[in-house]
Amino acid sequence: MSTENMEDSQNMISLVVPVYNEEENLSELMRRIRSVMTALARPWEIILVDDGSRDRSLEILKGFTVYPEVRVVELTRNYGQHAAILSGFSVVRGEIIITLDADLQNPPEEIPRLIEAMEKDDLDVVGTIRKKRKDSLFRKIPSRIVNMVARKITGVHMTDWGCMLRAYRRKVVERMISCHEHSTFIPALATHFGKRIKEIDVAHEERHGGKSNYPLRKLITLQFDLVASFSELPIKLIMYGGVFLSIIGVLFGIFLAAARLIYGAHWAAQGVFTLFAIMFVFVGMQFFALGLLGEYIGRIYREVRKRPEYVIEKVYGGPTAGADS
Ligand code: UDP
Ligand code: MG
Repeated sequence: MSTENMEDSQNMISLVVPVYNEEENLSELMRRIRSVMTALARPWEIILVDDGSRDRSLEILKGFTVYPEVRVVELTRNYGQHAAILSGFSVVRGEIIITLDADLQNPPEEIPRLIEAMEKDDLDVVGTIRKKRKDSLFRKIPSRIVNMVARKITGVHMTDWGCMLRAYRRKVVERMISCHEHSTFIPALATHFGKRIKEIDVAHEERHGGKSNYPLRKLITLQFDLVASFSELPIKLIMYGGVFLSIIGVLFGIFLAAARLIYGAHWAAQGVFTLFAIMFVFVGMQFFALGLLGEYIGRIYREVRKRPEYVIEKVYGGPTAGADS
């Protein structure tokens, strides 16, 4: 790499955009991004990841490779938004990496502010909070719940987890791709790998065209990804529940023994209550054992998730275009 190139990549901004059935939005997206980025007057590149779109998205994206800044990553199938972004991360060259959605809900005009915030305080991650979020109530309420649960579980205070318009330092991105995690949630993952994190307010717009790729079903899956990849809380709850039941059982048993001594054998329905007490203890123990098993299965699960989180079919465009294909 020549010295000129080295300086280039140190100053370079990389944009990563996951694309899934966004044919109506792509040319407008490209137009706005290009006008913002040329105005910045510094080296930049954009990685557009086609996440197995079934419409004309890939074709349109390939057309964009006439611009030297554009590279298109074609995945073998639909891996989901976060895996698509990770695959984009694996080929970025810039020092600051910015992710945004392809549907223009994240206005590209906010990009310079993200870069400014990052460079001013030498941050690792710049998070964002959507001001005046333009989504239906039906879409906002589940995401409010997602935000709340995410805060509780990960213990990281991020106000808005869902907004993908975010900036990451190269080292944070490298750490994220090196952990090869399946079904992950990038904003949460980033909090593990970056120290200096700050949030700024950004605008949010209506979807430009097409419809959301997140029906309720996918949203629930995403929520579970978040819970399951970042904590063992559900399993722990079973364990705690088991301990709690056992304690109640023991206390009940003690109470029954005492009551029997005071009131005689007639009380407590000839031992039926005692049976309940014993059952409580056993049921509790069973839950506890289940939780313990789950705990180990969870650990194994984390170990065996070595499956590639995405497979790149081909990369189009970029400065080396034509050289390797
Ligand atoms: N997306 C993707 N793969 C998917 C679903 C979505 O790459 O399986 C992309 C989509 O093209 C968009 C972004 O992720 O750029 C956010 O998706 P969408 O706008 O549907 O989500 P919402 O804004 O409704 O949360
Ligand atoms: Mg959207």
